[in-house]
Amino acid sequence: MNDISPLPQGSTIGILGGGQLGRMLALAAARLGMKTHIFCPDPESPAFEVTPHKTVAAYDDEAALAAFAAAVDVVTYEFENVPARTAQFLSHLKPLRPGANALAISQDRLAEKAFLTINRIPVAPFAAISDLDRLEAELEEIGAPAVLKTTRLGYDGKGQRIVRNMEEAAHAFEVLVPHPLVLEGFIAFDKEISVVVARNGAGEVAAFDPAENLHRDHILKTSTVPAAISKKTAEKATRIATAIVTALDYVGVLGVEFFVLPDGKLLVNEIAPRVHNSGHWTEAVCITDQFEQHIRAVLGWPLGDPTRLADVVMENLIGDEIGAIPHKLVTGIRPHAYGKAESRKGRKMGHINRVAVKKRAK
Ligand code: AMP
Repeated sequence: MNDISPLPQGSTIGILGGGQLGRMLALAAARLGMKTHIFCPDPESPAFEVTPHKTVAAYDDEAALAAFAAAVDVVTYEFENVPARTAQFLSHLKPLRPGANALAISQDRLAEKAFLTINRIPVAPFAAISDLDRLEAELEEIGAPAVLKTTRLGYDGKGQRIVRNMEEAAHAFEVLVPHPLVLEGFIAFDKEISVVVARNGAGEVAAFDPAENLHRDHILKTSTVPAAISKKTAEKATRIATAIVTALDYVGVLGVEFFVLPDGKLLVNEIAPRVHNSGHWTEAVCITDQFEQHIRAVLGWPLGDPTRLADVVMENLIGDEIGAIPHKLVTGIRPHAYGKAESRKGRKMGHINRVAVKKRAK
């Protein structure tokens, strides 16, 4: 099911997941003359507000999945935890882009690290941990402090603990489930950056400039572009991101998160087979933003121009911070609200792009 002939305007893109990423994908698709159909179990999904075509059903409801597949021309997703069976089921009915292998690899930290290591892409030292003896041996080998993480379903710092000694490690082993876990060396990084990269079925690759990311309470707070890194480091990050999408024979947009070490060396922390929060700045300052780029790739279209036209800082609006919209007219500010009914602590409600507007000579 992976014919790459371009889909015409008026085609319908099925999107699994109805959060803000699905919503922004649907908006970008509409701008290109496409329809979108959102599949999500949550009847309150923010993406339902921007397209009339929706299915509210569980991801294992095969009758609903079959009807969804029949109503669309291609299927994509906005989150990496799409159950493997759902991905497999749909991929027999319609093209699934990105493919099921990208999901399988990025859903599991051990599979992800194995994939990166085989492709000679540097990652933090790591080991699979299935019992306490192994944990003790690996903590000795990797050295403290270290980070113990679940292999699946971790996000925004959930499912991981920093451990400074065996006592803390044993406690973390008890509370983090299911096993096996992964133990990673704690990286004293200088900064965190990410590269959002796109690849289409013809093998064309286009990367956006690296963003420098700051987290608050384990949640992305700002992405600043350009990142304060050398040209060499930026080129290396882009090369690594390109190598990853090529090795995966990937179709769509993918986010690659890196640790930058004090000597400029890069380690890949994580990959996400979807549009990425650290790429939201592209909507304000790039000729083609990450959402349009993903839609183009999924449709089998040529990729758009990722050129960045201005410096920018993207700031996530979390919980009550959404109250900053509407605000008075300020030069260079571009807000985006996700239309979520309820603002909860830690919930991403919207973002603001602060664009460094160049003053024109009079
Ligand atoms: P993750 O869920 O793996 O993306 O981790 C969330 C955040 O925790 C990262 O963005 C880092 O700030 C921090 N972190 C994760 N793993 C490590 C590590 N091995 N060393 C230092 N910090 C880490």
